[in-house]
Order: sequence, then C-alpha cells, then structure tokens
Amino acid sequence: MALYRDRGVVLRTYKLGEADRIVVMLTRGHGKIRAVAKGIRKTKSRFGGRLEPASHVDLLVYEGRGDLDIVSQAETVDHFAHVRDDLERLGRAVAILEAADQLALEREPNGRLYDMLVGALRTLAGHDAPLVVAGFLLKALALEGFRPQVEACVACGGDGPLVSWAVEEGGLRCAAHRQGPAVSPEAVAVLQDMLGGRLGGALAERRPAVVSEVDHLVVRVFEHHAERRLRSVGALHQG
Ligand SMILES: [Zn+2]
Repeated sequence: MALYRDRGVVLRTYKLGEADRIVVMLTRGHGKIRAVAKGIRKTKSRFGGRLEPASHVDLLVYEGRGDLDIVSQAETVDHFAHVRDDLERLGRAVAILEAADQLALEREPNGRLYDMLVGALRTLAGHDAPLVVAGFLLKALALEGFRPQVEACVACGGDGPLVSWAVEEGGLRCAAHRQGPAVSPEAVAVLQDMLGGRLGGALAERRPAVVSEVDHLVVRVFEHHAERRLRSVGALHQG
C-alpha cells in the first residue's frame, strides 16, 4: 500500500465496528479524505484525542484501494483548545466544519478552502467573533464562483440604497427593484466589509440584531447555493 504525508483538519468522525472510527478530513494536498483510525475507541489508543472534529493534524496515511484510507500516524499541529472549552465557539466551529464538508470534494485538492478553514478556526481560537461563521460561508461561496453582489443592485446596477436580498439572483437590490428578504443598512455594511477585504471590520460587529440578521441571510444564501450544487452534482452522476 502506498503511504502519503499530508496536513488536515478533522471535519467529523463516525464509528466503525467495535473499536474503530472513520475520520473525515479536509487535507491540504488530497482534498477531502475518509480514513480509518484503527483502535481509536480503545482507552489506550495511540491516537489519543488527536483526531477529534476541528483537530489540525500532520498525517501519515496508507492509501486504500477504494474510498477508505487508513491513518498510520497523526501528530497535533493545533488542537484549538480555546474553541473546545467554550460551547458557543465550539458550535461556530462545528458550523464551519459542516460547511467545509459540504463544499469539499473527495480527493480533489482545494488549497484555498483548506487555508480558509484553518484561518477561520484560528480566528475563533484567538477570540470569539459572532460573525465568523457567516464570514466563512460568504467567502467560501465566493471561492466557488458564487460571489454575491453586495455593492450594487443586481437588477439595475445602481448603488442604492440597497434594501433587499434577491436570493435567487445572488445579490442585493435597491428600493425600486425590491425583491426577497429585507436587509438593514447595518447588515449591508457588514456584507460589504466581508466581501470587500475588510473581514476584520465585519468580525468586530457584535450588535445582536445585526449579527442575527446577517447570520440568517448568509445561511439562507449558502443553503440555496448548496442545494443547487447538490442537484447539479446529482444530475451529473445520472447523466
Ligand atoms: Zn435597482
């Protein structure tokens, strides 16, 4: 069996048999992989707690013949202890891991997505920022080629004021072309910061009403895109 080295983030794990787990990881060089960690559920496992969701690890992996590889060694790069110690941050980390899992393709390297994932977890470990999940989702969409238009009305190109989000069309609309859920001026400013290279400014936003509004909008847009993507992948497999 061929061995390879890589670095990855654990997205999720599930039980296999009596003592093993399958660990789903986003790696830098091999895209999303599934690998068996043998004996990991035994008390004296050689993997210890190093392969838990959000763990960032250096890996030595046996390449399997089918979908499943086998983890030979895992060394911690970063355990993100501050994320695990805080339920709110852990919840945000799990949402980020789920989104990365949805977007990543098996055995297709996506270095930008990997870097964004590690960056988002590092940000969370440094300090809690309520909008870190929304920021990750929006930037991940942009990476996929679905960058929402937040600077100008998607109907007329005018710069506003922008008052609603036309989810189907992937962007904001002005008052004359209002369509879709309403968006407050504060939320528009946050969205423009997130996509305009001013993520730090967006992450400083802590007003609960603005945070909640942006969160809901971005999740809705992300889900719309993810469903469409799922359908197109399904159609490809049928065709
Ligand atoms: Zn317009």
